Amino acid sequence: MPTALPGPGEGGGDGSQFVPLPPPSRGSGCATPPALGTALSTAAGRATMTASMSACGTQCGSMCRAGRRVPQFHGKEPASAFASLLNGLASFVMLLRYKAAVPPTSPMYPTCVAFAWVSVNAWFWSTVFHTRDTALTEKLDYFCASAVVLHSVYLCWVRTMGLRRPALIGVFRAFLLLFLACHISYLTLVRFDYGYNMAANVAIGLLNLLWWLWWCLRNRPRLPHVWKCAVVVLLLQAGALLELLDFPPLFWVLDAHALWHISTVPLNILFYSFLVDDSLYLLKANSDLSKAD
Ligand SMILES: [Zn+2]
Repeated sequence: MPTALPGPGEGGGDGSQFVPLPPPSRGSGCATPPALGTALSTAAGRATMTASMSACGTQCGSMCRAGRRVPQFHGKEPASAFASLLNGLASFVMLLRYKAAVPPTSPMYPTCVAFAWVSVNAWFWSTVFHTRDTALTEKLDYFCASAVVLHSVYLCWVRTMGLRRPALIGVFRAFLLLFLACHISYLTLVRFDYGYNMAANVAIGLLNLLWWLWWCLRNRPRLPHVWKCAVVVLLLQAGALLELLDFPPLFWVLDAHALWHISTVPLNILFYSFLVDDSLYLLKANSDLSKAD
């Protein structure tokens, strides 16, 4: 996470050491990291939280982590890197299981497979970033996370509305791609604005959360598997709260951010399980409909 940790080369010679931080200085303008930046994407909260922590720069980062000693390993965060790797592996394995269980004729098949690949890509760059924190890996981590957030909105829209209005799917997809292009262009060409990045992720994440919950509640009597989706959405939100708890690292390396990444591994698996159930349901519903015709 690109916060108060010194970059590579600033540590000691043994590869790991504690860096004492200055005491807290209230009133320096550090915003409390928000909890509402999560979407159904596993990377959404990460992007939000890292953005909010980074928004204030090093001084604020020190304040946000005030009173504790933060371990750093030449700018590497092994626990977060390992957890990102586990998330990527979980996404990849569940992608294979999805493809094995769901025939390509299922209406949601291409959208779910694309979502899985976008997620695998984001977790790859998250692993790289937590292994080596540079300006380039930071951008790749943020932008790929934004792509997951937007793709989760797309997935949600296609499932809840697009299947009944297929002509609009392309329009909505074009709109989201344009938004992503503008988002990345602004952050790359104009200014790497952490505050704006945070606000965008919070807004889109919140939209995604409320949209899925509304759909799950409406369809609960008819679709027994939606509980999985609702649980994932709610636990993602709860998991993001972990990042607000600024506790000293457990076992030296397990800080709140690493625990947040670890908590999303089982949620990944449950969400793909929901996608399998739902895609098979849609396939059956379609074939029932064509038989009735
Ligand atoms: Zn992270």
